[in-house]
Amino acid sequence: MSKTLDVLEAAAHGTPAGFVDGCKSRGGCPNYLDREVLTCFLAHRAYAHYYLLREQGPEVPITRAMLRQAKRRS
Ligand SMILES: [Zn+2]
Repeated sequence: MSKTLDVLEAAAHGTPAGFVDGCKSRGGCPNYLDREVLTCFLAHRAYAHYYLLREQGPEVPITRAMLRQAKRRS
């Protein structure tokens, strides 16, 4: 099995990879009501906006705290 497929199968919610892997609706993500971790939709959007978040790669879940930090630094 290829590395790419491994990554896609392991894509977790709250990550840009989760969005790319098909979790694309705002309310459809299991993280929708989570107070700490973003949904895949929001993670994808934040990832596109903030360089700081892109540094860690698309498979890392993005928390609200991380987003606040990224906003402060840009
Ligand atoms: Zn999701």
